[in-house]
Amino acid sequence: MFTLNEKVKNLKPYDPISGNYHIRLDANESFITLPQEIKQEISDRVLCNHFNRYPDPCAEECCASFAKYFGVPASCVMAGNGSDEVISVIMNAFLQKGDTVVTLARDFSMYAFYASLVECRSVVVENNPDYTIPVDNVIETVKREKARMVVFSNPCNPTSLVLPREEVRRLVQSVDALVVLDEAYMDFSDQSLLSEFSKYDNLIILKTCSKAIGMAGIRLGFAVTNETLTKVLLAVKSPYNLNSMTQAVGTVVFDHPEYIRSCVRRILESRDELYEHFCRISKEFPGAFVPQKPEANFVYVLCKDAEGIFNHLKSKGIIVRFMGDHLRISAGRNYENEVVSEEIEAYLKGATQ
Ligand code: PMP
Repeated sequence: MFTLNEKVKNLKPYDPISGNYHIRLDANESFITLPQEIKQEISDRVLCNHFNRYPDPCAEECCASFAKYFGVPASCVMAGNGSDEVISVIMNAFLQKGDTVVTLARDFSMYAFYASLVECRSVVVENNPDYTIPVDNVIETVKREKARMVVFSNPCNPTSLVLPREEVRRLVQSVDALVVLDEAYMDFSDQSLLSEFSKYDNLIILKTCSKAIGMAGIRLGFAVTNETLTKVLLAVKSPYNLNSMTQAVGTVVFDHPEYIRSCVRRILESRDELYEHFCRISKEFPGAFVPQKPEANFVYVLCKDAEGIFNHLKSKGIIVRFMGDHLRISAGRNYENEVVSEEIEAYLKGATQ
């Protein structure tokens, strides 16, 4: 009889909240849809694809377009099916069974998941009480546990806080382990290490098209690292990991830097507006709804009754991310920000009556 092995036997398929919600603020996606001119350019480009042929194995044009936008050498870029796949390739490449990976308690859950699939141990460091990353503790833990890798997001999902660049630098310089720095949300902040990645032999930076660029549907993410590590990643990934349509779309989108910058500006305006609504609610109901000042396109809120608010919103067709005693709410269109805020307020009013 075939029996399932330990590492998969209790796994369940990833299940983002399904159902029909008219306002979706749960996945930190962009609320901006592509303008018609860029859609047309994409369409023309995709139609030129040779669908009977395998795609370019290294997605060179797409990587070059990305590299130009971010000002990094194309020879230091590897592309994947979303940064999710890139994380998995990195773990497969640089970890072996039994190795230790250091992660943060409040961070993107897929790091520990992919580490478990390569049969590695995750050692979890608690965040400071104010949710910031305790850099000294991380360094100490990496050394004590002889970890091979430390991985974290900056700005952080879910706290929406950013670790200052000099602190990230200090961490990278203090450990021999590979530092995987996930800058999925860095377009919304200003503490990137992208311009200096080549100074380090132990740093990989992750980027995604799913957030500021507004292209979650095409599944496109990148690793930027020195040439030695890039070569390993290209060798470990599956040969044709990125389909030709995604490559074409990515190439076109990064060729519109002004469009991308305008998206970032619009999302930041929306994020600030959402945070302002939340600060107002927080003043009205002291202690019941405490938003964290955001550095990404979502707000992390400590709630006295997160589940109650979550269920109320759900009943109104609004979905946000429920995380125990916190909610994580993505910035949406103006009216979505208004509606979600009104409904939170209505729930809290009802609950305090
Ligand atoms: N890193 C972080 C920190 C994320 O929040 C997410 C998506 N929620 C990802 C990576 C994965 O992004 P992608 O869509 O590129 O797989």
